[in-house]
Amino acid sequence: MIIYPKLYCKKVTDITVEFLKENNIKALMLDVDNTLLDFELKVVEGLEKWYSSLKKENIKCIILSNSNKLEKIKMISELLDIPYVMFATKPLKRGFKKAQKILGIDSKNIGVVGDQIFTDIIGANRSKMFPILVQPIAKKDLWMTRIKRPLEELVIRKYLKSQEGK
Ligand SMILES: [Mg+2]
Repeated sequence: MIIYPKLYCKKVTDITVEFLKENNIKALMLDVDNTLLDFELKVVEGLEKWYSSLKKENIKCIILSNSNKLEKIKMISELLDIPYVMFATKPLKRGFKKAQKILGIDSKNIGVVGDQIFTDIIGANRSKMFPILVQPIAKKDLWMTRIKRPLEELVIRKYLKSQEGK
């Protein structure tokens, strides 16, 4: 299903190196708003430590964000010392393609991490990548996102039900 993730976890730092290796994931595309940062620009706790554990295993990361806020995207990209693609227009494929080119890795070996089904997850599935959904870290949301949330919750509930007994 195009709207379903393959992994659903609480936060980005819960994604383990073991899980990535088991699923042949060699790189991650990371969403920024509500995945790495909240709206007060606070970084998710333990992010740098988590990323260094990936780096040690040669798992690459890149920022893939729909945001147009250069300063914010640069700040997080410099913090982790990873490249970025902004104005990504997720769920359209072009941003994913651009980021994939930079990574130089096959789409089936790329995980996409984000908090929104209608941008991150659908875009990842359309691009034949491995979608990973995380819970949004901020309670405050942009109003556009807020409208979509009840629908997302419905999808997540259905998804979790579909996973029962698997
Ligand atoms: Mg987001």
